[in-house]
Amino acid sequence: MTKKRILSGMRATGTLHLGNYFGAAKGMVALQDDPNYKTFYMVADLHALTTPFNVEELRKNRHNVIADYLAIGLDPEKSTLFFQSMVPEHVELAYYFSTVVSVARMQHLPTFKEKVKQYPENVTMALLNYPVLMAADILVYQAELVPVGIDQEPHLEIAREIARKFNSQYGLSLPEPKRFQTSGEYVPSLTGEGKMSKSMPGSFIALTDDLETIKKKLAKVPTDSGKGKIKTITDTKKPGYQAKKRYIDSTTNQESKGVLALMTLVELFEGKEKRVKYEKAYESSGVRYGELKTYLAEVIYNEIKPIQEKKREILTQPGYIDEVIESGAKKARQVAGETVRMVRQAMGIAQLGINS
Ligand code: AMP
Repeated sequence: MTKKRILSGMRATGTLHLGNYFGAAKGMVALQDDPNYKTFYMVADLHALTTPFNVEELRKNRHNVIADYLAIGLDPEKSTLFFQSMVPEHVELAYYFSTVVSVARMQHLPTFKEKVKQYPENVTMALLNYPVLMAADILVYQAELVPVGIDQEPHLEIAREIARKFNSQYGLSLPEPKRFQTSGEYVPSLTGEGKMSKSMPGSFIALTDDLETIKKKLAKVPTDSGKGKIKTITDTKKPGYQAKKRYIDSTTNQESKGVLALMTLVELFEGKEKRVKYEKAYESSGVRYGELKTYLAEVIYNEIKPIQEKKREILTQPGYIDEVIESGAKKARQVAGETVRMVRQAMGIAQLGINS
């Protein structure tokens, strides 16, 4: 039986946080441990160039993400781990893919618009091309499933569109990749606004945070009187609607988005029943946020502490990470090379001697 291929990756832009952990990392580990799949997990260092970067930080960050991968349980014996830049076939395929994608389609993507707002001085072709490179990241391995958060869904749609176009124009049979859904596909920001994100200070709990830091971060989550009504969002077009409920404070009649963040974290770490218990209290006797936050900080820390210990241990083994990615990149290049050769042939450009 041929195994289905999986591709995922994290940008090398800093330490991983709980959004990355629940939205992607947990799915990556689950698929690695399923014998039906062959898993390719990169650190997206080229994607990190789409926003302002510093080379030394990038060097540290990409090394750090591999250490995080190993610490959360990715195993180089089971998963192919590598830096995206070590497999130049990604870039070549992205260039071929870009021939079938319109500029207008890219300009309308929500992530592009967000980044334009965030970095108005940095609206580059690399930024615009990000989803095309992501399509190549996935399809260069002919991957069928992609464990990523819901924010990546519009990019997966682009990958599917490209696969369809290439298949119909060139008689290929590239898969149309689907998102592998996890329970934490949308982890809200601690500030109550938007999603947990590396680029938003105060929005995230990092996998490297100690108990005191977690307590301090949770202490800052905005709350309300502790009592109110809960409404479920049914707008299925809204990103992360599955995770969304509206907590309406009975005193002010205002929505408490920080309470949503706390309740989501309770569910992710302690299960649905625990969240229901707190929600019942919210709609009756009231929630004491001080107690809830202390309890939550301990639960979070208990889960990430072993990851931190494992990461420290990994970082004490000199050369280990380099060995892992060297051997991962070699395996990845083999598969990626086959796909790119096949695409060049199908497009007819191999016959022109392009990269043959
Ligand atoms: P990034 O750090 O943007 O490269 O994201 C790496 C992975 O984490 C991607 O699969 C994202 O979809 C996922 N991710 C990032 N932030 C969140 C979040 N707040 N909730 C769920 N998944 C997330």
